[in-house]
Amino acid sequence: MNSTAPAYESADVLYANTDFSKLNWLETQWAAWYLWIGNPILATGLMSFLLHEIVYFGRCVPWIIIDAMPYFRKWKLQPNKIPTPQEQWECTKQVLYSHFTIELPMIWFFHPMAEMFGMSTWQVPFPSWKLMVPQVLFFFVFEDIFHFYAHQALHWGPLYKHIHKIHHKYPAPFGLAAEYAHPAEVMILGSGTIAGPLLYCFFRRDLHIFTMYVWITLRLFQAVDAHSGYDFPWSLQHIIPFWAGAEHHDFHHMAFMNNFATSFRWCDRLAGTDTKYHEYRARVAALKKASANKEEFAAMELKLNAQMEAEGVKAEAEAEAYRYGSKAKAA
Ligand SMILES: [Zn+2]
Ligand SMILES: [Zn+2]
Repeated sequence: MNSTAPAYESADVLYANTDFSKLNWLETQWAAWYLWIGNPILATGLMSFLLHEIVYFGRCVPWIIIDAMPYFRKWKLQPNKIPTPQEQWECTKQVLYSHFTIELPMIWFFHPMAEMFGMSTWQVPFPSWKLMVPQVLFFFVFEDIFHFYAHQALHWGPLYKHIHKIHHKYPAPFGLAAEYAHPAEVMILGSGTIAGPLLYCFFRRDLHIFTMYVWITLRLFQAVDAHSGYDFPWSLQHIIPFWAGAEHHDFHHMAFMNNFATSFRWCDRLAGTDTKYHEYRARVAALKKASANKEEFAAMELKLNAQMEAEGVKAEAEAEAYRYGSKAKAA
């Protein structure tokens, strides 16, 4: 497509040179969507927004059900901290508010930006999976490193107090709390998700927005699951040892320190920002060994968690007490 083309007069002209007999079912639906809406900017904006809403809330539903079923308590990382329906509803309202006021306009500007960077949107067929898989892996690594640094910056006193504190409202997070954050945080951390694809596209010019949707879907799954508060024996981190998962991020919320990355454990390992977390895991393992039965272990684990949370409250107060010129305390 010629990027200098004027506003689309008719969607039909988009597919004038497309051989529809060679398309698969999804590609046909894709083209039908663009033809039906008739305006690619509107079609991309609407599809992106709907995808985000459906994937985000759709992924939260199983966690809401799991929270309501006592059977799953044995895998809850902070077993005594089950979110109440009221808490979940308050959180949902806040998240929806920010989706409509912050994310909707951001998504709206995405189409022109994507085209400026040379990303395919309405075009079919889609690229092959051999191209998509390495692209998505690159976005995962890029986002993880970006988030690691940006998240640490958000723990710096002034930024914490005015921005990141909102996300830390829940010391025991739940799925819906993944996007519970200040609008500035949504923009800062969200840019790590968007910047990878845009930068890649700028240099390589072979990215389709469909690949980006695959990436966004996986990234939303990662974010919601990391906040779920559950670590099952079949959780991804037990299959891929460098995957962070809920167990990694739950500690960040409980203890207010360590574990700043999103998807992987590498960054925190290399930077040494996971020492307290590993100490904690070692103490949990020792408690398990030392306790005579499940009940005794559960009681001791609760005590340890309360102690970690109290340390977290102290670390948070220190971060908030930071004044320019005063000595920064590591959180
Ligand atoms: Zn944080
Ligand atoms: Zn979080």
